[in-house]
Amino acid sequence: MTGPVVGVLAETAVRERRVALDPDGVTRLAATRTVLIEKGAGERAGFPDSAYTAAGATVTSRSDVVAGCDVLAVVRCPDDKLIAALRAGQVVLGLLEPLDHLEQISALAAKKVTAIAFELVPRTLSRAQSMDALTSQSTAAGYRAVIVAAEASGRFFPMMTTAAGTARPTSVVVVGAGVAGLVALGTAKRLGAVVTGYDVRPASRGEVESVGAAFLTSSVAQGAGQGGYARAMTADELRQQQDELADLLTTFNVIITTAKVPGRPSPLLVSADTLGRLKPGTVCVDLAAGVRGGNVEGSVDGEKIVTRAGVIVIGAGDLASDLPTSASQMYGRNVVALLGSLITDNAFTIDPNDDVHASVVVCRDGEITSPMVRGALSLPPIVPPDAPSSTDAPNSSDKAADA
Ligand code: NAD
Repeated sequence: MTGPVVGVLAETAVRERRVALDPDGVTRLAATRTVLIEKGAGERAGFPDSAYTAAGATVTSRSDVVAGCDVLAVVRCPDDKLIAALRAGQVVLGLLEPLDHLEQISALAAKKVTAIAFELVPRTLSRAQSMDALTSQSTAAGYRAVIVAAEASGRFFPMMTTAAGTARPTSVVVVGAGVAGLVALGTAKRLGAVVTGYDVRPASRGEVESVGAAFLTSSVAQGAGQGGYARAMTADELRQQQDELADLLTTFNVIITTAKVPGRPSPLLVSADTLGRLKPGTVCVDLAAGVRGGNVEGSVDGEKIVTRAGVIVIGAGDLASDLPTSASQMYGRNVVALLGSLITDNAFTIDPNDDVHASVVVCRDGEITSPMVRGALSLPPIVPPDAPSSTDAPNSSDKAADA
């Protein structure tokens, strides 16, 4: 088979159970290209090596995958050891979180590896929706947040009318009604909870109500930023939000927070003071917990903390990896769709006139090409070759040189 060979490795990050390609994804790719899978790569997601072999992949050692592939599909940004093993011209494609991995991106650029980040897929472009791994993984995280909350809670979610009395349904509030938030609202509703959503984007009211939840109006009425995202709040607005949430949140049994602003730290919305006012047994699941802070004061990604007042705070920044089978199946579809766009006529091609291609490349041929990442690294913007620049304009020194 000719054309780029696709490789998939076992993820090495602690707690990561997903794999970049499931056997179904291999079936889709293997008709046209060679796929190399590291032995055991899919085990923690529920996909044995035999399923990959049956789907048409070659299951082999990690070093053989790295040496033999042209395009490496990953879930998370490669670590230093993997970057050291890569060679110039190879392509790495995944949820690279480039702004949180500036050193690794610089190292990939120095090795002349091409890095493609799912975070940079233009999400509002309808033909890119099948490539939108942020949405697929937020869907998994939003669903899982409700399951985690239900498991930690000591209460029934639905109303229960029995001979032993009637249990009131659990009340769930979701702060941040983006992709994960709306899935969490829908899931909690299906479990029988009474659900409420809160967001600063005016458009979110209709989205929250469409899943059968009530909407809590924020005092920050115009919080929309660019591209459907929220903007960063000012310090005053954030204080205002913390104050209003301190009153509003005390009535709920479960609080799920998902509020994020692209490229910025997550807003701290549930302060220690608010936590102190919640009823014992209240469960907070913080999907924003991670290196960019969190929405709940003191939440630690991957940890469950019980406050002195008996409030349970669960830091859950990577919940999609807690649903590894479904999350990997959806992610595999995203990988196949993005590869389908980037591989034409059996060659890996980046067409600068294609909106998706122009957006997703972080670095290539030794240069960091993403304007956002360049900004974060304080690198000057790239001047397009055909753009007029000061050196194109005739000036006195040019004339002197011509003379
Ligand atoms: P996200 O993960 O960046 O943020 C999650 C939510 O937190 C957002 O709804 C945001 O408004 C909210 N938030 C941020 N700061 C807040 C604050 N201080 N207080 C309260 N809430 C706050 O967002 P996301 O889930 O990736 O999606 C963001 C938007 O993009 C949504 O409007 C979504 O519908 C849209 N989207 C569109 C497409 C598409 O057009 N195909 C695909 C995916 C997402």
